[in-house]
Amino acid sequence: MMEAVARPRKRLFLGLILVSMALAVLAGYVLWHVSFPGLANISAYLPLVIGFLLAAVVLAAIAGVGSIVLALLGYPTLAVFRGVAWSAIQLLFPLAIRIGKLFDIDKERVERSFIEVSNQLVRQKRVRVRADKLLILTPHCIQHESCPFKITRDVHNCRSCGKCRVSDLLALSDKYGVHVAVVTGGTLARKVVKEIRPHAVLAIACERDLTSGIQDVFPLPVIGVLNERPEGPCCNTTVDMAKVEATLKNFLA
Ligand code: SF4
Repeated sequence: MMEAVARPRKRLFLGLILVSMALAVLAGYVLWHVSFPGLANISAYLPLVIGFLLAAVVLAAIAGVGSIVLALLGYPTLAVFRGVAWSAIQLLFPLAIRIGKLFDIDKERVERSFIEVSNQLVRQKRVRVRADKLLILTPHCIQHESCPFKITRDVHNCRSCGKCRVSDLLALSDKYGVHVAVVTGGTLARKVVKEIRPHAVLAIACERDLTSGIQDVFPLPVIGVLNERPEGPCCNTTVDMAKVEATLKNFLA
Protein backbone atom coordinates (compact mmCIF):
# COMPACT_ATOMS: atom_id res chain seq x y z
CA MET A 1 0.00 0.00 0.00
CA MET A 2 1.32 3.46 -0.93
CA GLU A 3 2.22 5.61 2.07
CA ALA A 4 0.50 8.98 2.11
CA VAL A 5 3.08 11.60 3.02
CA ALA A 6 1.59 14.92 4.08
CA ARG A 7 3.63 17.99 3.27
CA PRO A 8 5.15 19.00 6.58
CA ARG A 9 5.10 22.46 8.05
CA LYS A 10 8.43 24.07 8.80
CA ARG A 11 7.06 25.63 11.95
CA LEU A 12 6.57 22.20 13.54
CA PHE A 13 10.31 21.60 13.62
CA LEU A 14 11.08 25.20 14.61
CA GLY A 15 8.50 25.13 17.41
CA LEU A 16 9.88 21.88 18.83
CA ILE A 17 13.45 23.13 18.63
CA LEU A 18 12.51 26.35 20.44
CA VAL A 19 10.69 24.42 23.19
CA SER A 20 13.68 22.04 23.47
CA MET A 21 16.02 24.99 23.78
CA ALA A 22 13.89 26.59 26.49
CA LEU A 23 13.85 23.29 28.44
CA ALA A 24 17.61 22.81 28.02
CA VAL A 25 18.25 26.37 29.25
CA LEU A 26 15.98 25.81 32.26
CA ALA A 27 17.64 22.47 33.08
CA GLY A 28 21.09 24.10 32.75
CA TYR A 29 20.08 26.92 35.08
CA VAL A 30 18.62 24.54 37.70
CA LEU A 31 21.77 22.39 37.55
CA TRP A 32 23.99 25.44 37.95
CA HIS A 33 21.85 26.77 40.81
CA VAL A 34 21.85 23.42 42.67
CA SER A 35 25.59 22.94 42.26
CA PHE A 36 26.37 26.55 43.21
CA PRO A 37 27.30 25.84 46.91
CA GLY A 38 29.46 22.85 45.97
CA LEU A 39 31.28 24.81 43.27
CA ALA A 40 31.78 27.76 45.65
CA ASN A 41 33.38 25.38 48.16
CA ILE A 42 36.05 24.51 45.59
CA SER A 43 36.65 28.12 44.57
CA ALA A 44 34.69 31.34 45.04
CA TYR A 45 35.12 32.08 41.31
CA LEU A 46 34.04 28.67 40.01
CA PRO A 47 30.25 29.29 40.04
CA LEU A 48 30.77 32.50 38.07
CA VAL A 49 33.12 30.88 35.53
CA ILE A 50 30.72 27.95 34.98
CA GLY A 51 27.79 30.40 34.84
CA PHE A 52 29.54 32.49 32.14
CA LEU A 53 30.37 29.39 30.11
CA LEU A 54 26.77 28.15 30.27
CA ALA A 55 25.49 31.61 29.34
CA ALA A 56 27.88 31.72 26.35
CA VAL A 57 26.61 28.33 25.11
CA VAL A 58 22.99 29.43 25.56
CA LEU A 59 23.55 32.73 23.73
CA ALA A 60 25.30 30.93 20.86
CA ALA A 61 22.40 28.46 20.57
CA ILE A 62 19.82 31.28 20.64
CA ALA A 63 21.79 33.20 17.99
CA GLY A 64 22.07 30.06 15.83
CA VAL A 65 18.41 29.06 16.00
CA GLY A 66 17.39 32.74 15.70
CA SER A 67 19.44 33.03 12.50
CA ILE A 68 17.56 30.05 11.02
CA VAL A 69 14.22 31.69 11.80
CA LEU A 70 15.38 34.99 10.26
CA ALA A 71 16.75 33.19 7.18
CA LEU A 72 13.42 31.39 6.71
CA LEU A 73 11.66 34.74 6.92
CA GLY A 74 13.93 35.98 4.13
CA TYR A 75 16.33 38.14 6.16
CA PRO A 76 20.07 37.99 5.45
CA THR A 77 22.06 36.24 8.20
CA LEU A 78 25.74 35.86 8.96
CA ALA A 79 27.33 32.60 7.77
CA VAL A 80 29.07 32.21 11.13
CA PHE A 81 25.72 31.50 12.79
CA ARG A 82 24.87 28.66 10.40
CA GLY A 83 27.52 26.38 11.91
CA VAL A 84 26.35 27.27 15.42
CA ALA A 85 22.75 26.66 14.39
CA TRP A 86 23.58 23.20 13.03
CA SER A 87 25.47 22.27 16.22
CA ALA A 88 22.52 23.46 18.33
CA ILE A 89 20.10 21.47 16.17
CA GLN A 90 22.22 18.31 16.43
CA LEU A 91 22.22 18.66 20.22
CA LEU A 92 18.55 19.54 20.57
CA PHE A 93 17.10 17.24 17.91
CA PRO A 94 16.74 14.12 20.14
CA LEU A 95 14.99 16.26 22.77
CA ALA A 96 12.70 17.76 20.11
CA ILE A 97 11.72 14.24 18.98
CA ARG A 98 10.90 13.27 22.59
CA ILE A 99 8.81 16.40 23.15
CA GLY A 100 7.02 15.69 19.88
CA LYS A 101 6.20 12.19 21.16
CA LEU A 102 4.63 13.69 24.30
CA PHE A 103 2.23 15.54 22.00
CA ASP A 104 1.66 12.41 19.92
CA ILE A 105 3.62 13.85 17.01
CA ASP A 106 5.16 11.16 14.91
CA LYS A 107 9.00 11.19 14.63
CA GLU A 108 8.83 11.04 10.83
CA ARG A 109 6.68 14.18 10.77
CA VAL A 110 9.29 16.09 12.76
CA GLU A 111 12.04 14.78 10.48
CA ARG A 112 10.07 15.79 7.37
CA SER A 113 9.64 19.25 8.82
CA PHE A 114 13.40 19.45 9.48
CA ILE A 115 14.12 18.39 5.87
CA GLU A 116 11.77 21.13 4.61
CA VAL A 117 13.57 23.72 6.75
CA SER A 118 16.97 22.53 5.56
CA ASN A 119 15.88 22.45 1.89
CA GLN A 120 14.53 25.98 2.09
CA LEU A 121 17.75 27.26 3.67
CA VAL A 122 19.80 25.64 0.89
CA ARG A 123 17.48 27.00 -1.81
CA GLN A 124 17.70 30.50 -0.34
CA LYS A 125 21.48 30.36 -0.69
CA ARG A 126 20.94 29.85 -4.43
CA VAL A 127 23.73 27.31 -4.65
CA ARG A 128 24.71 26.68 -8.29
CA VAL A 129 27.32 24.10 -9.21
CA ARG A 130 28.85 22.60 -12.35
CA ALA A 131 27.27 19.29 -13.37
CA ASP A 132 30.43 17.33 -12.55
CA LYS A 133 30.32 18.77 -9.02
CA LEU A 134 26.80 17.54 -8.30
CA LEU A 135 26.16 14.13 -6.80
CA ILE A 136 22.85 12.28 -6.70
CA LEU A 137 22.98 9.91 -3.77
CA THR A 138 20.39 7.24 -3.13
CA PRO A 139 20.12 4.18 -0.86
CA HIS A 140 20.26 0.72 -2.38
CA CYS A 141 16.64 -0.09 -1.44
CA ILE A 142 15.82 1.76 -4.68
CA GLN A 143 17.28 -1.18 -6.62
CA HIS A 144 14.72 -3.83 -7.47
CA GLU A 145 15.10 -6.71 -5.02
CA SER A 146 15.29 -9.26 -7.83
CA CYS A 147 18.15 -7.45 -9.58
CA PRO A 148 21.34 -9.54 -9.59
CA PHE A 149 23.73 -6.71 -10.51
CA LYS A 150 26.11 -5.18 -7.99
CA ILE A 151 25.39 -1.50 -8.47
CA THR A 152 26.64 -0.19 -5.13
CA ARG A 153 30.26 -0.63 -6.27
CA ASP A 154 29.57 0.85 -9.69
CA VAL A 155 26.14 2.12 -10.62
CA HIS A 156 27.00 1.56 -14.30
CA ASN A 157 26.64 -2.18 -13.68
CA CYS A 158 22.90 -1.47 -13.98
CA ARG A 159 21.55 -2.85 -17.28
CA SER A 160 18.81 -0.21 -17.42
CA CYS A 161 16.09 -2.82 -17.65
CA GLY A 162 13.58 -0.27 -16.32
CA LYS A 163 12.38 -2.37 -13.38
CA CYS A 164 13.50 0.29 -10.91
CA ARG A 165 14.42 3.98 -10.78
CA VAL A 166 18.15 3.31 -11.09
CA SER A 167 17.80 3.28 -14.87
CA ASP A 168 16.00 6.67 -14.74
CA LEU A 169 18.72 8.11 -12.49
CA LEU A 170 21.38 6.89 -14.91
CA ALA A 171 19.49 8.52 -17.77
CA LEU A 172 19.50 11.80 -15.80
CA SER A 173 23.20 11.39 -15.15
CA ASP A 174 23.85 10.93 -18.89
CA LYS A 175 21.60 13.86 -19.82
CA TYR A 176 23.15 16.38 -17.42
CA GLY A 177 26.57 14.92 -16.68
CA VAL A 178 26.05 14.63 -12.91
CA HIS A 179 27.33 11.82 -10.69
CA VAL A 180 25.00 9.12 -9.38
CA ALA A 181 25.83 6.74 -6.55
CA VAL A 182 23.79 4.03 -4.86
CA VAL A 183 24.96 3.34 -1.32
CA THR A 184 24.26 0.73 1.33
CA GLY A 185 24.50 3.10 4.29
CA GLY A 186 26.03 6.17 5.90
CA THR A 187 29.60 4.86 5.85
CA LEU A 188 29.57 4.22 2.11
CA ALA A 189 27.78 7.54 1.53
CA ARG A 190 30.55 9.41 3.36
CA LYS A 191 33.18 7.47 1.37
CA VAL A 192 31.53 8.42 -1.95
CA VAL A 193 31.30 12.07 -0.89
CA LYS A 194 35.00 11.99 0.03
CA GLU A 195 35.96 10.46 -3.32
CA ILE A 196 33.80 12.60 -5.60
CA ARG A 197 34.15 15.82 -3.56
CA PRO A 198 30.87 17.28 -4.85
CA HIS A 199 29.96 20.91 -4.20
CA ALA A 200 26.34 19.92 -3.67
CA VAL A 201 24.33 16.75 -3.11
CA LEU A 202 20.84 15.78 -4.16
CA ALA A 203 19.98 13.06 -1.66
CA ILE A 204 17.08 10.65 -2.10
CA ALA A 205 16.16 8.72 1.04
CA CYS A 206 13.67 8.21 3.85
CA GLU A 207 13.12 10.75 6.64
CA ARG A 208 15.60 9.15 9.05
CA ASP A 209 18.46 8.82 6.56
CA LEU A 210 17.98 12.28 5.09
CA THR A 211 17.90 13.88 8.54
CA SER A 212 21.13 12.25 9.68
CA GLY A 213 22.80 12.62 6.25
CA ILE A 214 22.08 16.35 6.00
CA GLN A 215 23.52 16.92 9.48
CA ASP A 216 26.47 14.61 8.79
CA VAL A 217 27.81 16.37 5.72
CA PHE A 218 27.15 19.97 6.83
CA PRO A 219 28.31 22.51 5.51
CA LEU A 220 28.00 20.72 2.14
CA PRO A 221 24.66 21.88 0.68
CA VAL A 222 22.18 19.01 0.43
CA ILE A 223 18.68 19.06 -1.00
CA GLY A 224 16.71 16.10 0.27
CA VAL A 225 14.03 14.41 -1.83
CA LEU A 226 11.94 11.91 0.11
CA ASN A 227 11.62 8.47 -1.41
CA GLU A 228 8.31 6.63 -1.76
CA ARG A 229 7.76 3.22 -0.18
CA PRO A 230 4.90 1.44 -1.95
CA GLU A 231 6.08 -1.90 -0.50
CA GLY A 232 7.05 -0.58 2.93
CA PRO A 233 10.44 0.60 4.14
CA CYS A 234 13.75 -0.58 2.65
CA CYS A 235 12.24 -2.64 -0.19
CA ASN A 236 11.74 -1.63 -3.83
CA THR A 237 11.53 2.05 -2.95
CA THR A 238 10.99 4.62 -5.67
CA VAL A 239 11.08 8.38 -6.19
CA ASP A 240 9.24 11.05 -8.13
CA MET A 241 11.61 11.59 -11.06
CA ALA A 242 9.98 14.89 -12.07
CA LYS A 243 10.82 16.23 -8.62
CA VAL A 244 14.37 14.91 -8.85
CA GLU A 245 14.93 16.52 -12.27
CA ALA A 246 13.44 19.86 -11.19
CA THR A 247 15.66 19.90 -8.10
CA LEU A 248 18.67 18.97 -10.19
CA LYS A 249 18.03 21.81 -12.67
CA ASN A 250 17.80 24.29 -9.76
CA PHE A 251 21.25 23.28 -8.60
CA LEU A 252 23.03 23.46 -11.97
CA ALA A 253 24.97 26.57 -13.00
S1 SF4 B 1 17.10 -0.82 -13.67
FE1 SF4 B 1 19.18 -1.51 -13.24
S2 SF4 B 1 19.29 -1.72 -11.03
FE2 SF4 B 1 17.11 -1.62 -11.57
S3 SF4 B 1 16.52 -3.77 -11.76
FE3 SF4 B 1 17.10 -3.07 -13.81
S4 SF4 B 1 19.27 -3.60 -13.99
FE4 SF4 B 1 18.75 -3.72 -11.82
